Amino acid sequence: MEPTVTILPASAMPEDRHVLKYVTLRYDDDGIVCTNDDITPEEQALLQYTPTPAPRSKVLLHSCCAPCSGAMVEEMRYLMDLDITIFFYNPNIHPKREYEIRKEENIKYAIKHGIPFVDCDYDSDAWFKRMVGFELEPERGIRCSACFDMRMEVTAAYAVQHGFTYFTTTNATSRWKDELQVNLSGVRAALLYKQQGRDLQFWVYNWRTDAMTRRKYEVSVDEKFYKQEYCGCSYSLRDSNIWHVVADEAEESQEVVDAFFQDANAHFGDANRPKKYQIALQKSTAVFSSRQKSAENIDANNW
Ligand code: SF4
Repeated sequence: MEPTVTILPASAMPEDRHVLKYVTLRYDDDGIVCTNDDITPEEQALLQYTPTPAPRSKVLLHSCCAPCSGAMVEEMRYLMDLDITIFFYNPNIHPKREYEIRKEENIKYAIKHGIPFVDCDYDSDAWFKRMVGFELEPERGIRCSACFDMRMEVTAAYAVQHGFTYFTTTNATSRWKDELQVNLSGVRAALLYKQQGRDLQFWVYNWRTDAMTRRKYEVSVDEKFYKQEYCGCSYSLRDSNIWHVVADEAEESQEVVDAFFQDANAHFGDANRPKKYQIALQKSTAVFSSRQKSAENIDANNW
């Protein structure tokens, strides 16, 4: 199949994509953002791992970057024989230069494997609108739920409009992401359309086994993918430079991931967060000022 790159303008996306739908914003006396985010029995049932769709099923794969899509694309395309399209909707990525680097890497990989690619408008204004109030949230906190919700809602809308029965996301493959948060956003986005009688399923699968994680890093090395140093948004850039200094495949070992979040929670998880945040910001600014990132100079990246 001849690979195609389709542009999706922001005008074709849901108009209410900047609006919070599940997490709620409120402040306690100490100023911390709170939410009431209960999971319904219907959502709970849809969160279970489900069987692989039948061969040649159309699956829309939301992709956050080339490194996270590498092993998933191989598995879905060549082992499961699925008819996949990559959907790049990541308005969270900041700055725009970083967004372009991640997207171009992903397009190159899609073309190499003959996979159609949907290139969405850079929609950062809508993303920042939806994240208002969550700026001080730590990674895996409420902001990340809002971020996944937004990306999954736009993916689900495109899936429905273009005849996909299934969609899923490369965010599910990273041990740096909370699997429940990622999958819950997908399930909820699908439910928006199921409730309208549309045939759409968020495909929940275990993409983070040891074998998949190892293969993910092998593909990244083989392809010489640009390797980002932070999750994507400006807030994760700010925060991750404080702790995230590990390299190679070990960076996604369960021990490293657990230790990172234990450290981060100890830092942010108390009433002194605003003061500590100031200290963290000064520290990250000092660390980051001497770094250079480049798609060409792979050695400069944090592998
Ligand atoms: S840390 Fe990552 S998942 Fe969380 S809000 Fe930022 S970009 Fe989105």
